Amino acid sequence: MPETSATISCRNCDTQIAVDTFVKSFKVCPHCDYHHYMSAYERLDLIVDAGSFEEYDANLYSIDSLEFPEYPQKLERDVAKTGLRSEMLSGIAKIGGHSTAIAIGDVGFIGGTCGSVIGEKVTRCIERALEGQLPLVIVSVSGGMRMQEGTLALMQMAKTAAACVEYAKSGVFYISIVTDPTFGGATASYTSLGDVIIAEPGARVGFAGPLAVASLREELPENFQKAESLLEHGFVDTIVHRADMRQTLIDLITFVS
Ligand SMILES: [Zn+2]
Repeated sequence: MPETSATISCRNCDTQIAVDTFVKSFKVCPHCDYHHYMSAYERLDLIVDAGSFEEYDANLYSIDSLEFPEYPQKLERDVAKTGLRSEMLSGIAKIGGHSTAIAIGDVGFIGGTCGSVIGEKVTRCIERALEGQLPLVIVSVSGGMRMQEGTLALMQMAKTAAACVEYAKSGVFYISIVTDPTFGGATASYTSLGDVIIAEPGARVGFAGPLAVASLREELPENFQKAESLLEHGFVDTIVHRADMRQTLIDLITFVS
């Protein structure tokens, strides 16, 4: 098949990248190594054994319980855009032959913000892992808690954190992968409770975003809230390039199995 001449522009360095090269390099810029947005389905293909994914809770979706302006339209728009019914894909898959409970967020769905559906899906995913004594992998991306769901969104922090505690007591193994961007209540709950926390290079991870923090202090340190700085300060355990993510997961899960 002839190679296409179409190109895309790197968001970080503006280099023109051939689409074929971009896809083959897992949407990582070959010039500056910037890790571009990946959908939940693309991440699933990247890390699980082909054809092994069994989706759960596919019919959970958000409703506009607070009658928040324009929320139903935004939900409809992003269902059409992402092919997902909610901001997270979850189920059971094999990784290197090991059955694993997995949940993957998608920032293309209302900014990956964490509403009641993410909380319920994460919680059920953890409970399935606990029941089956399976390793658990959660790939997080989050613009914070979903303001359109108010307290219903905020209470998901306590619910998911409680499920993580129960899972941790059972002695199985939770790998939390943080990708760009992961902010707000997700960081303050299930995302930070992994036995191992892996970040993609350059991922921004934090609670309040840099603009909010900058309003409280004059100058922010270099690499503020970036994976490399978080590794230095012990908030993440390792940084793994997207091309090495699947093998790293296989190695970790095999090690503890
Ligand atoms: Zn680049």
